[in-house]
Amino acid sequence: MDSPLLQVDNWLKTGPRPFLISGPCSVETRSQFLTAAQELANTGQVHALRGGIWKPRTRPNAFEGIGGQGIEWMLEAKAMTGLPIMTEVATADHVELCLQHGFDMLWIGARTTVNPFSVQEVAEALKGVDIPVFVKNPVNADLSLWIGALERMYAAGIKKVAAIHRGFSYYGKSIYRNKPMWEIPIALRSNFANLPILCDPSHISGRRDLLAPVAQRAMDLGFDGLMIESHPTPDQAWSDAAQQITASTYHDLILNLVIRQYDLSDLNASNALAALRSQIDKIDEEIIGLIGDRMKLAEEIGVYKKEHNMVIFQLDRWQEIVSTRSQLADRIGLSAEFIDKYLEQLHKESIRAQTKVMNQNDSII
Ligand code: PEP
Ligand code: MN
Repeated sequence: MDSPLLQVDNWLKTGPRPFLISGPCSVETRSQFLTAAQELANTGQVHALRGGIWKPRTRPNAFEGIGGQGIEWMLEAKAMTGLPIMTEVATADHVELCLQHGFDMLWIGARTTVNPFSVQEVAEALKGVDIPVFVKNPVNADLSLWIGALERMYAAGIKKVAAIHRGFSYYGKSIYRNKPMWEIPIALRSNFANLPILCDPSHISGRRDLLAPVAQRAMDLGFDGLMIESHPTPDQAWSDAAQQITASTYHDLILNLVIRQYDLSDLNASNALAALRSQIDKIDEEIIGLIGDRMKLAEEIGVYKKEHNMVIFQLDRWQEIVSTRSQLADRIGLSAEFIDKYLEQLHKESIRAQTKVMNQNDSII
């Protein structure tokens, strides 16, 4: 089946590049939102104002949004700044309220994209409407689910559809709140060259210091725009405090971005190079994480050896490791010299970890 999305036009192409969306994670109070809006408008670096009115939260008892009363405050902000306003919708009721009040754009959140029933409900409520709808990737790393949600919007008649990459939830340790897994938005772009794709560095990073490098990476990969959360007093934000920044920090971040010129519809050489580098980054990150996991196991073995009064270095075991790993390496074409050096370093580090464990809590005589 040919996807209807193949017909999509890059409707953002004629607009500013990058297309910049900013505003607080949540609309909290009238004065918070109006201040945020005015400060952002003053930067001159915002093309649409975001604010979450209905907040889907992972855990109950977190702030679940101010609800319908936030609509009036957003309309006031729009009248005051002249900026288009957008919010997250997850149900037909949300869509109807937003349409009644003349919201300019909408987005579907990551926790909604995972559910085709909800996405379909939103799509039906949008039939006959011609406003831009941004679809965030689902929380899990599932490209088809993301494409499916975009297709449902497009098939409902939303021609100005765009994707927002906000990273993927991951069980385990990572510096990111949501792992970027750049290869997934890149695959989306390879399937649908004319589909606008934005990046949301805020939800990928989860912390302020990573926003700029993630935003720059998105620009290097040829994304069409950014959605970045900002707040007049980020530390006091009612949701996502650690990742929000002031309008003035936002302004500096945007001005420091290097925007490269290229044609979106053709994956040119530098774009392809960036895509390959991004895959290498991901693999290196995984390798380092796995070496860390291996060291933790080595420490556990150290504890066992200590309890059983065994020596750290066990020759048989080491010979077995060298021989099995060397055969494996040979089969995939790695040089013997490389694998010898690698194993030697790994062994050294693992003995260091075990020695540390052995000597822990030893009383000084
Ligand atoms: C948000 O934009 O504040 C939000 C809830 O994002 P996501 O759906 O990406 O988690
Ligand atoms: Mn948020």
